[in-house]
Amino acid sequence: MKRYHLRPNTGLTLRLKSSDEQTGRIRGSLTEFLALHESSVKILIADDSIVSRHLLEATLRKWGYDVVVACDGVEALKLLDHENAPSLAILDWMMPGMTGLEVCRRVRKRAREPYTYILLLTSKSQKEDLIEGMDAGADDYITKPFDQHELQVRLRAGTRLVDLQAELLSTREALREQATKDSLTRLWNRSSILDILCRELARAGREAKPVGVVMVDLDHFKNVNDSYGHFAGDAVLCEAARHMQNGIRGYDSIGRYGGEEFLILLPGCDEQASFNQAERLRRQLAHVSMSVNETPVCVTASFGVTTAVPGQPWTPEDLIRKADEALYLAKKLGRNRVEFLSNGSEGAVVDTSVEQETVTQ
Ligand SMILES: [Mg+2]
Repeated sequence: MKRYHLRPNTGLTLRLKSSDEQTGRIRGSLTEFLALHESSVKILIADDSIVSRHLLEATLRKWGYDVVVACDGVEALKLLDHENAPSLAILDWMMPGMTGLEVCRRVRKRAREPYTYILLLTSKSQKEDLIEGMDAGADDYITKPFDQHELQVRLRAGTRLVDLQAELLSTREALREQATKDSLTRLWNRSSILDILCRELARAGREAKPVGVVMVDLDHFKNVNDSYGHFAGDAVLCEAARHMQNGIRGYDSIGRYGGEEFLILLPGCDEQASFNQAERLRRQLAHVSMSVNETPVCVTASFGVTTAVPGQPWTPEDLIRKADEALYLAKKLGRNRVEFLSNGSEGAVVDTSVEQETVTQ
């Protein structure tokens, strides 16, 4: 009885009796089926022998694999270094310039992700050296001249491992996303944005550059929840978050600090630049008409801004506290406005005339 597992996670298994008259025909269909499903897998063939290389290439293409070819070890390593490198590699052991064994060692030394499954091609005389091959990081080997069915089985084992690794990587990525992002708005969550603040402050200290810190709070947000329900409130939060994220530069950061409160970090922005950027965001948000339960709703926000200036003693807590104070001031002075408080002094040092002109919108 032969058992064929048809790709991981499909739950498909085919059992064939070796005496089955139809085995040959079924095997043919099986090859076609697998060819269809394996077509997305890219395999590198590295062999200095033209005959062996062409034979392997033709066989793998017939099975539906995407194939790339290298004539020696140096070229193979270059291809495996590439961003979209093949996930499986068949490396001839003996090659000029760099042996398959050396390629294997170098690939493993880099410990790059995703994992490259390596199958060494050996001649019979090298069979006794296989421990060395496995020590170099090869996953499997096949002896030249290769048996087609044996190669197909070996490749399937490799594909399965590569698939499992890809699944692991995407699960890990999903977990990382879950741990660092706010589940509703997909912005950084509170602990992540505070980590980023610490990192940015450390970098700004080293480079003697300022960092703008902006605390934002949506105005009268409770009214949205009370009037339209919490789902509508969530939609408004997401929409406001999206607009603010689109309004900042690629190297700025924004996180949901809590409830309807957001923290924005502006590396390299001094007092005036931080104020201006907050003002731009405020104005953009005030102009957006959001549709809540098919009713147009305008949501505004108040902004409290402060800046970590080079040479001043500041801690992340100092900055958050100062931005919070500025936000409180903006709320007190009528909302939908930006207030700046310099960290370490009480008075605003920026030109707020732009904001005064537009606050009545
Ligand atoms: Mg060779």
